Amino acid sequence: MEYTIAEATLVWEKCLNLIEKSVSPQAFVTWFKPLKPIGLSENILYIDVPHQFFFEWIESHFKQLINDTVKNIVDNEAEISFRVMEPIEEITNQKELFVQQETNHERKLVQETFDSNLNQKYTFDNYVMGDNNQMARSVAIAVAKQPGQTSFNPLFIYGDVGLGKTHLIQAVGNEAKTLFPEKRILYVSSEKFTNDFTDAISKNKTNEFSTFYRSLDILIVDDIQFFSGKEKTQETFFHTFNTLQQQNKQIILSSDKPPKDLKGIPERLVSRFQWGLIADIQHPDFETRTAILKRKSEYMGMSLEAEILEFLALNITSNIRELEGSLVGLLAESSISFKPITIELAKDVIERTAFSQKRKSLSIEQIQTAVGEYYGIPVILLNDKTRRQEIAFARQVAMFLSKEMTKFSLKTIGLTFGGRDHSTVIHAHKAIYELIKENGAVMNEVNTIRKKLESQI
Ligand code: ADP
Ligand code: MG
Repeated sequence: MEYTIAEATLVWEKCLNLIEKSVSPQAFVTWFKPLKPIGLSENILYIDVPHQFFFEWIESHFKQLINDTVKNIVDNEAEISFRVMEPIEEITNQKELFVQQETNHERKLVQETFDSNLNQKYTFDNYVMGDNNQMARSVAIAVAKQPGQTSFNPLFIYGDVGLGKTHLIQAVGNEAKTLFPEKRILYVSSEKFTNDFTDAISKNKTNEFSTFYRSLDILIVDDIQFFSGKEKTQETFFHTFNTLQQQNKQIILSSDKPPKDLKGIPERLVSRFQWGLIADIQHPDFETRTAILKRKSEYMGMSLEAEILEFLALNITSNIRELEGSLVGLLAESSISFKPITIELAKDVIERTAFSQKRKSLSIEQIQTAVGEYYGIPVILLNDKTRRQEIAFARQVAMFLSKEMTKFSLKTIGLTFGGRDHSTVIHAHKAIYELIKENGAVMNEVNTIRKKLESQI
């Protein structure tokens, strides 16, 4: 028997009333409010969840509670079935394409299912722009609009891990696919390319392999540094590259370093990588990190206060994947501990991250030395009573970093800086924190020193 949506909603509301009694208010708002009943048939209540992450979280943490609740409200046989509203990660763009094939000297159109292996969640729309990626992003957009028609061929994107290379090159593929549905676009990791090739060799199908790759309009290969030392793969990639390029087909590559620094890749390939355009992605600055956190948290259905976003952005400087991880950690912690998401909770979560484990080992003296070196001020003056402006400023920066990067108490930090009071440390921290938010130059200075210190841990 089918029920109307109104009936499904009624049943779900009854369930919610029960669930609300068993979970924290925060968990209720975060995990249950966004769920939408979409139907009830027989004994199954159908519920939409906003995205894959949500689904996995609910499955692993509240499955029992939800199942017990529907059984209680509907009947003993009742179940809940979740549907993810957005495409789940594993679903790739399958597109039917017509390709010309010659069979018995007769040309005919054959329908072929072509899997571009792209993940739809990576778009230009949700790629936050910052100083760190501005150039890479704009050439990527240009390539998506005119694949093979610009001088950016190959487009070579490089940068450290977790900074958005995969996102960007997949966004090119997704955008091009929307603009040119007939084009054959393929995204592969260099490992997949290598594995497919090895597989083809063992099955005596290297011809098919080559024909397939050389028939593409856009070939995107991720993390090509892993071609290092794989001579056979390099050889076949070299020929694929040449064939595609001669036909003005677009090639997009990513790597963790620029072509000239690649090891174990022959010169003839390296020089081809330099034919087109090379763009790097740098580490995002504070503002970009904050913008990314804001964007991601909204996507995850959390609305976080600016203070929390800024706290996370200030403390997580390694990469964007870690930034995302901190949000997931925060959401998880809040749900498990029944605590609302506050700045204190954010601090707790950050304390437990890998960086915090390491930061115990950083000493205040190390920070003073780094700050002194950066500003050209002897450490002894940082601990002195002098109020000369540039010295007072450097001292405040050192105090700020001591509070941010070590676990020493305000009292200890104050004492180490020539026997100052803990309130002086609080004041210094606040002053620098405000400056960082307002003044890009100060932010860069502090970040440079911070990076140097991080490399010492
Ligand atoms: P890489 O391939 O360089 O290691 P990824 O592309 O996998 O990095 O990015 C890591 C995570 O950070 C992904 O979830 C990605 O969506 C996200 N990310 C990276 N850069 C941005 C950006 N500019 N805006 C929004 N999300 C980003
Ligand atoms: Mg990647």
